[in-house]
Amino acid sequence: MSESSLRVVWLYPDLLSTYGDQGNVLVVERRARQRGLKVERIDVRSDQTIPTSGDIYLLGGGEDRPQRLAAERLRRDGGLERATGNAAIIFSVCAGYQILGREFINDLGEREPGLGLLDVVSTRGGAERCVGDVLADADPGLGLPQLTGFENHQGVTQLGQGVRPLARIRMGQGNGTGDGTEGAWRDTVFGTYLHGPVLARNPQIADLLLKLALDVNALPPVDDRWYEALRAERIAAATAP
Ligand code: GLN
Repeated sequence: MSESSLRVVWLYPDLLSTYGDQGNVLVVERRARQRGLKVERIDVRSDQTIPTSGDIYLLGGGEDRPQRLAAERLRRDGGLERATGNAAIIFSVCAGYQILGREFINDLGEREPGLGLLDVVSTRGGAERCVGDVLADADPGLGLPQLTGFENHQGVTQLGQGVRPLARIRMGQGNGTGDGTEGAWRDTVFGTYLHGPVLARNPQIADLLLKLALDVNALPPVDDRWYEALRAERIAAATAP
């Protein structure tokens, strides 16, 4: 983190921000400010250059064509790979997650190279899209509670040796390959299929990103009653008979 402020970069809001994923940047900002941190939020449209000195980078989901355009522009820019080399923290959702992988199938039905920041490969799933509520147990190493979210994707994602699953599915499809995994992570790079927005549903993930950025093991507690009420409501709705 820079001496003056935490730099939170929201990438390509013009292409990657389905299902309220903008909420993720709002939650990171708010939870940082609640801990007395100064935050510089940097929105980077797809026709702008990606700064390489950010602390936390966020990518959201997108429809198939915007996803291809985003991948092309991210590859051409190269800033996200450089930022990752500088130990930046990257958190990505759905289309953003697929783009961080080695490749995915684009809207033209072709294999599109990703950025290779996560050792995952996405292909097209079967006839049915993965749509609905998700409940998943986070990787025990991450110190997170059970995750809740909403998924809507056609692509399915196979994890390679270089990543760990972010979570194990209890309800829903997650990576959609039938192996029970959801999302992937390694070091400071994370991907998930969860919308919601996922950081509003699971503010502990936002805190994990902040702890990594600050290089601390704990943060001062904040009032989480609103978030916990939302979690209880969504779990009840997802598991209702
Ligand atoms: N276009 C991708 C898919 O369907 C991602 C969708 C999304 O980001 N919601 O798999």
